[in-house]
Amino acid sequence: MTSNEQFDIAIIGGGMVGTSLASLLSASGCGWRIALIEANPFLATDTTSNYTSHFDARSTALSHGSVEIFRELGIWNQLQQHATPIRQVHVSDRGHFAGSVIDAREQGIDAVGHVLENTWLGQVLANHVQQQTDIHCYSPARVQQLIPQQQGARLRLDYQGITVELQCRLAIIADGGDSPLRRALGIETDIKDYRQTALIANVEFSESHRGVAYERFTDQGPLALLPLGETEQGQRAALVWTLPPAKAQHHMSLDDAAFLAQLQQVFGHRLGRFVRLSQRQAFPLQLITACEQIRSGVVLVGNAAHFLHPVAGQGFNLALRDGVVLTEMLTEVHRLQKAPGELAGLQTYIERQQRDQALTITFSDRLVRLFSSDHLPLIALRHLGFISLAALPIAKHYFAEHTMGTAGRSPRWRASGFETESS
Ligand SMILES: Cc1cc2nc3c(=O)[nH]c(=O)nc-3n(C[C@H](O)[C@H](O)[C@H](O)COP(=O)(O)OP(=O)(O)OC[C@H]3O[C@@H](n4cnc5c(N)ncnc54)[C@H](O)[C@@H]3O)c2cc1C
Repeated sequence: MTSNEQFDIAIIGGGMVGTSLASLLSASGCGWRIALIEANPFLATDTTSNYTSHFDARSTALSHGSVEIFRELGIWNQLQQHATPIRQVHVSDRGHFAGSVIDAREQGIDAVGHVLENTWLGQVLANHVQQQTDIHCYSPARVQQLIPQQQGARLRLDYQGITVELQCRLAIIADGGDSPLRRALGIETDIKDYRQTALIANVEFSESHRGVAYERFTDQGPLALLPLGETEQGQRAALVWTLPPAKAQHHMSLDDAAFLAQLQQVFGHRLGRFVRLSQRQAFPLQLITACEQIRSGVVLVGNAAHFLHPVAGQGFNLALRDGVVLTEMLTEVHRLQKAPGELAGLQTYIERQQRDQALTITFSDRLVRLFSSDHLPLIALRHLGFISLAALPIAKHYFAEHTMGTAGRSPRWRASGFETESS
């Protein structure tokens, strides 16, 4: 066993949330010593120059607000090389006439958001953290044990076959929705099983998508097609098709042609003919919220804190806003020469972010319930929802704000560092 490296902050989990948060903390200018521990190997640092778009990657819709955060971090230029702007969101309800369009220009912006393949987003973020001298990356390394201490925590990790012990003043748990560390700490969760499965794939079709994202609510569940960059073969979109588990299993077993025929039937011909399909993946959908997000010396973030239904594309966008507010609070604590793991500071973070978290979780959850139901009053409500969305600028603005990630308290992150309460 080797030991006993000391860090101000240790982040466990180098997924999209862990790497983004490490980047934000590093950019704060507080000079913290940060450990980032990821179970899977990070890619070599020079691979971003050779990136070619994958046909079968999962994608993330970044809200306008998230794009601004990455811009301030100085990595948007690189991310943008393979980002597809969403000019319009087209929301419709299959079998009914109601429908509505959210147009970026109407909202006074260039794009409602951008779609990025997770491979590219993850690669740029992993590349960025490895270039920061204040971030010490342990990868591949798995945290086996987190032992809370009076000030911070002690971590025991398996790093390239060796057991390594680290000491940190704050442990940030970003180890995903299943979060073994959350379980080991005895933190309870509220779980709502949607009894739905999301089928993910990339599809190619014959017509141009013109930057339109489609959100179609069917009697089986919502179906989204998010515009992606063109390949040599043609126009592409990322499909997120939410279905009851048995139906999803059946659709997973179909051959590509039969699957595309089903998709064509449900979606129609707005994008012409569906011609090619990537490998499919299935994700069972639940709403998981941790009953405690903070303890002295410990904070949970990302999917470990809240795992949302992907219907409104909010999980990562919310985690990024959480990350900004957490960094903002830690910066204030640092200026007051207090320890980053102090419970009072972490409590302030939760107080500042709880409204945004509650609004976003409720918004996603209500959308799922409203649009997955055959219950007559809910159908009426969803009609009314569409009518008001189409007719009332305020309702449309509310929906747009949530999909663009500008609702809630806006983080005050600036290129020059963080504006804090005290500054
Ligand atoms: C189908 C689908 C579509 C989505 N679309 C969108 C979207 O369009 N927009 C959006 O904002 N959000 C979207 N989301 C949500 C988004 O994907 C998640 O919010 C995001 O992936 C959460 O990332 P994370 O880093 O918290 O967790 P994860 O991605 O699960 O990362 C956890 C990391 O921790 C590592 N790890 C685990 N245990 C240990 C350990 N003991 N030691 C070290 N490392 C460990 C793992 O290897 C992993 O890399 C979608 C989700 C789904 C399911």
